[in-house]
Amino acid sequence: MPTVRSARQDVLSDEEIQQLTRVCRGIKDELVVVVPLYAGLRVGELAHLSIGWLNWQESTIDIPQRQVCFCWDCRHYRHSTWEPKYTGVASIIPSASFILR
Ligand SMILES: [Zn+2]
Repeated sequence: MPTVRSARQDVLSDEEIQQLTRVCRGIKDELVVVVPLYAGLRVGELAHLSIGWLNWQESTIDIPQRQVCFCWDCRHYRHSTWEPKYTGVASIIPSASFILR
């Protein structure tokens, strides 16, 4: 009988997060590692993240319901429109100010 895998099994420990950030070579690497971990972004959201999503006054990352995108995937599979996987819950994700240092 197949076992049901929970996403909780994939959560990184504090030590694993520290190991990841130690091998980062600059702020861009660190952003790619730290922002999804602490802001709860999915890979697709991180890949499509733009500066316009950052709400500096509210310290949030506001994920749009959809946006025009010309990346290869969106052009070939999504009629040049990217949408987050879950639009209902992905409108605003609080970001800790320590992420955006
Ligand atoms: Zn795209």
